[in-house]
Amino acid sequence: MIVRLKEMMPGPRRFDLRFESNWWGGGDPNSQVLGLDGPLDVHLTLSKEGSHYAVDGSLSGRIRVRCDRCLETYSHGVQSEFRVLLAPPPSEPVDSEIALSEEDMSVEFLADDEIEIDRLVREQLYLALPIKLLCHEACRGLCPVCGANLNREACKCQEKRGHPAFLKLKEVKLKRD
Ligand SMILES: [Zn+2]
Ligand SMILES: [Zn+2]
Repeated sequence: MIVRLKEMMPGPRRFDLRFESNWWGGGDPNSQVLGLDGPLDVHLTLSKEGSHYAVDGSLSGRIRVRCDRCLETYSHGVQSEFRVLLAPPPSEPVDSEIALSEEDMSVEFLADDEIEIDRLVREQLYLALPIKLLCHEACRGLCPVCGANLNREACKCQEKRGHPAFLKLKEVKLKRD
């Protein structure tokens, strides 16, 4: 969805959107985010503030992601509120007062006189992700020797943990954690 800013009325404009689960998915299977897991509700208020535009929004829904430790996919709830500042293309003078007072916000420069809502929402989804994605706090990850998912099975390597070589491995793993 594209919003053309020139056609926008003065006052704020509100969008209540629902992205269905097929909106985003089927992309790169190795990506950390595999797509939506159910509908995503997005509320946006677009307003003109001096020479720039501000998007105040919130999103909530579930996405399918890959666990950083065991590489299994799982459903992750996302909920976030955001404010994005859209500035005119850099060729035009940028209001320095605004740039200073709102530097902690994400500022994007508009390439054109339009906002691509889908792209904006996808970016905000990525920003809403935690640094580490874990299927659950106590995820045991993969065996460093055979690659077995230790949440599901105790592999043979663990049975042999008395062996000096495996003790060494355990040490390395503990240090890494
Ligand atoms: Zn996991
Ligand atoms: Zn193993």
